[in-house]
Amino acid sequence: MAQYTPMIQQYLEIKAQYKDAFLFFRLGDFYELFFEDAKKASQELEITLTGRGQDKERIPMCGVPYHSAEQYITQLIQKGYKVAICEQVEDPKQAKGVVKREVVQLITPGTVMEGKMLQEKENNYLVAITPFDDHTYGFAFNDLSTGENKATLLSGNWEDVMYEIATLGAKEVIVPSWVPAENMERLQQFLTITISYEDQDELPESLQSLCAKVEQSKLIQTFGRLAAYLVRTQKRSLEHLQPLQYYSLDEYMKIDLHSRRNLELVETLREKSKKGSLLWVVDQTVTAMGARLLKRWLERPLLAKAAIENRLSMVETLIKYFFEREELREKLKEVYDLERLAGKVAFGNVNARDLTQLKRSLQQVPAILSLVDGIGNPYGKYLIENVDQCHELKELLEKSLQEEPPLSVKEGGMIRDGYNPTLDQYRDASRNGKSWIAALEQQERQVTGIKSLKVGYNKVFGYYIEVTRANIANLPEGRYERKQTLSNAERYITPELKEKEALILEAEEKIEELEYQIFMDLREQVKEYIPKLQKLAKTISELDIIQGFAVVSEDRDYSRPVFSDEREIAIVDGRHPVVEKVLNSGEYVPNDVFMNHEREALLITGPNMAGKSTYMRQLALISVMAQMGCFVPASRATLPIFDQVFTRIGAADDLASGQSTFMVEMLETRNAIAKATQDSLILLDEIGRGTSTYDGMALAQAIIEYIHNEIGAKTLFSTHYHELTVLEYELSRLKNVHVSAIEEDGKVVFLHKVIDGQADQSYGIYVAELADLPESVITRAREILYSLEHQSISIENKPNSIKEDHLANEQDTDNQQLTLFQVDESIEKQLAQKNDKDKAVISKLKSLDILNITPIEAITILNDLQKKVKHR
Ligand code: ADP
Repeated sequence: MAQYTPMIQQYLEIKAQYKDAFLFFRLGDFYELFFEDAKKASQELEITLTGRGQDKERIPMCGVPYHSAEQYITQLIQKGYKVAICEQVEDPKQAKGVVKREVVQLITPGTVMEGKMLQEKENNYLVAITPFDDHTYGFAFNDLSTGENKATLLSGNWEDVMYEIATLGAKEVIVPSWVPAENMERLQQFLTITISYEDQDELPESLQSLCAKVEQSKLIQTFGRLAAYLVRTQKRSLEHLQPLQYYSLDEYMKIDLHSRRNLELVETLREKSKKGSLLWVVDQTVTAMGARLLKRWLERPLLAKAAIENRLSMVETLIKYFFEREELREKLKEVYDLERLAGKVAFGNVNARDLTQLKRSLQQVPAILSLVDGIGNPYGKYLIENVDQCHELKELLEKSLQEEPPLSVKEGGMIRDGYNPTLDQYRDASRNGKSWIAALEQQERQVTGIKSLKVGYNKVFGYYIEVTRANIANLPEGRYERKQTLSNAERYITPELKEKEALILEAEEKIEELEYQIFMDLREQVKEYIPKLQKLAKTISELDIIQGFAVVSEDRDYSRPVFSDEREIAIVDGRHPVVEKVLNSGEYVPNDVFMNHEREALLITGPNMAGKSTYMRQLALISVMAQMGCFVPASRATLPIFDQVFTRIGAADDLASGQSTFMVEMLETRNAIAKATQDSLILLDEIGRGTSTYDGMALAQAIIEYIHNEIGAKTLFSTHYHELTVLEYELSRLKNVHVSAIEEDGKVVFLHKVIDGQADQSYGIYVAELADLPESVITRAREILYSLEHQSISIENKPNSIKEDHLANEQDTDNQQLTLFQVDESIEKQLAQKNDKDKAVISKLKSLDILNITPIEAITILNDLQKKVKHR
């Protein structure tokens, strides 16, 4: 290291402690990066790579101005990197030798606090994990921006841990260094997430009170790791962290990651956009806090009937009280993000504008609470019980803060007159000085008779009197002192003017200093209210979600679900909330779902594009909505409370995940079969499609039989294997339903109506026609289909039961098919002629001796051949 300058040595020493982060090393007005950091950052940020030092030992370097550093830091964090901010911690003028520098904060994807790095409507979670010898995993998570801390114990396997991380959408995970590398590799294959290592798992002294109510040592130890990491990286006040709360996954409907993605609960499968997801339909929240909490509700529907009914009853009340609801919405719109504000206050990066927004939010609270109280819903009353309105804080902010304070906390203009007597005195001095100066202009115009005389101010010369060149001759001799000459004017000063100026400037400097102090003091006072504000935030978020449910339920004509203890489903005129919203009004065809102990499983057949998937998802989404406490898109709905929902999609459909392998499909199916209970809902969409026909069909049948006989979960199974419909005769609780379609003018028309019984055709060619495939392809497909249908289909390889029933039904099926594919004899004749022509062309081509014909002959032959096949 000896060859490096002292500053580079200092850099290397600090960098050694932050190997996995970009070190932003403060040098004057820049943050500089060196060596490998510089090379990588210059690529990632597209900034110029330069160098420092002589040719031979030139050190790669690049830098960003400190005032625009945030945008670069944001870019790196969004790419999953960490950034260590290293500041000069002593005044360079006072420094002996190299200025002292220290890392003041390590910014990581899981610990961002503000700016564009945070999504307003999403939590930013950081997870810590501790594996224990008994094969359990301690799991703790935190959102630094809101202070939320939760922990649970996961038993089972690493997959469950990965699912939980994915459910939270966590940005970063902290593990001890001894976690098996293989686990971390699997995690990284599965999710894009930043990994951090922390071996310290003792709860830091300063945060011990957070665990006062938690007894399980495994949870404390895991949270200890998280807390130790935060203390080590953030190096600042964490007073907004909320007490650690235990949560149990058993309280919620389980929806594993694949099902969640398939059902498009919070984002669409392909574009990953909110638009098109269930969240998009039900999110009528007006606060950022409400939007964040709603996402969590959606991902974690409840199991406790009483809790669900509480939410539903409040939705019902708010639907009835339209005007109160509208007023509540208006008030809520004025409520700022209290949760994140509390975090900013503790973190020390709140400004006066934030505090004015806090004041405005608090001003809404009394009206919000009284509106909720007024509508008389018991759950509403419970929600607002014990909420502290923070009345004194509101008064304090009203008294102290200007209506429109500036963003900067160092330039004054934040504090109201009358709040602090000393500040008022300085302000008087400054105002008096300024009005003296303002009067001076009038006075001097009169005395000199120069109407265009002006008093002005600039940063370099301070106050001055300006006289245009044309008027200089009119100035009484020696009246002013010349200060500056401009092309068409002269600027002057007088001793008195300078004296007043000094007073004004001094007062202003003092004002800025004092305002800053007052503001800091205010901030300290706000800190005291953090827990109360957090509680208030929770209540407001919940009220916001519920009013949103009421809005969407009323707008879209949803109804209150009823829960059945008999595991019955009776949905009348059910709709898929998203498809319904996307279609024009009246276009969606509502469907019923009836299932009970005699109808545990439905086998859905019907043409492609008829609406089988939509029908299945409709049931799952209605169940999710019901269990999160929202009304549902149906005119009536009775539902069981489902403990889990599984959605499996035949491999060919699952392109978006890039894992369209049959193996994945089977792994997921195994997962569903292993975990489902009688109280679960299973949706299997075209399972078995990813392999050869008989193979797939055999598997599909075996899976249906297993679920039917061994599990008894409510199951919807869509398939294009019509042969499976015979299962209805074998499995007593399985029923066939199909999505109907009719043929009109030779084209298929989907009715999207699901009715009992099996479908007759796959209508694939008609769908291809709808999709505008070339006419010749369609015609040819019809020909092939025709000949296939008239071959004797070998069914030797089919499972026995299918074979028998198929034979029994063959006659029937053929008759039904004729209605769609009526082929009269003349067509048959035509087809035969075409085949003959094809054969002739092929044999001519085969017999050609290409090397021994002239180009002219070749063209003539080609022409003949083309004629033969052209007019078919
Ligand atoms: P399948 O699974 O049978 O291939 P989908 O469920 O994917 O068919 O439905 C295909 C399209 O049909 C959907 O994208 C939707 O636009 C429309 N659709 C489905 N069900 C309905 C319905 N009940 N009412 C109106 N349109 C529907």
